Amino acid sequence: MKKNLLKVLALAGALFLLAPAVPAAAADSQPEQPAPRQEKQKQDTEKPKKVKAVLPKHKHTAGCEKTQAEPVLLVCILDRSGSMHSLAADTIGGYNSFLAKQKAEEGKAELTTVLFDDQYEVLLERKPLAEAPELTAREYFARGTTALLDAVGKTIMTTAGSMEKEGICPQRRKVLFMIMTDGLENASREYKREKVRDMITEAQEKYGWQFIFMGANIDSFAEAQSLGIDRKNAMNYEASGEGVQASFQQMDRAATAARRN
Ligand SMILES: [Zn+2]
Repeated sequence: MKKNLLKVLALAGALFLLAPAVPAAAADSQPEQPAPRQEKQKQDTEKPKKVKAVLPKHKHTAGCEKTQAEPVLLVCILDRSGSMHSLAADTIGGYNSFLAKQKAEEGKAELTTVLFDDQYEVLLERKPLAEAPELTAREYFARGTTALLDAVGKTIMTTAGSMEKEGICPQRRKVLFMIMTDGLENASREYKREKVRDMITEAQEKYGWQFIFMGANIDSFAEAQSLGIDRKNAMNYEASGEGVQASFQQMDRAATAARRN
């Protein structure tokens, strides 16, 4: 019995000696503990906000299965602001060669083409590609200032709205937006940058729609990113005949890739 008592006392002594080390260790780790908890809470509250719903509401149902990826919708949003004046002929030529190449490509496609300065003009809206007319100097001439955000915002809204009306599922239909501008936004009245970024983010993440951005005289990578378009889908083109041509070639590559994949 005595032996056991001694053992207990020795154990208690050892624990007593160890005791100061325990709170010290706990004290050391204490300041770090709340941090991960806070981070987790933050993530939890931010999650639902990730993609803001700004596009016309789409109710994804079994009926959506009827929608095919084709006709792939190609959407050209082209700058016609005054600074494009010396490049008007190159733009017409570039667009028409883009059109010819896409017409030669296999599969069904539709084309929406809008021109913008401080005014907004829809040349074609979801027109079967085979029936899309060439661009001429009657439609394309440079004038005015650059209302880029309004042009992009309106075009996305019209596209999503008309598809919803016709019962076309935006998640199943392939859509590629190609935005070409030669200057910074300076004239939009309807759409703020943040709203357009939310629309593009929602369209990309919920519908899988693709966006490419081509700009001259600006930092296209920064401009694209500010609109929610990945840097890898942006390109700078030189404000010259060759530059405009390169830009339409890029559009052709993107459209071909979207239609073949
Ligand atoms: Zn759907």
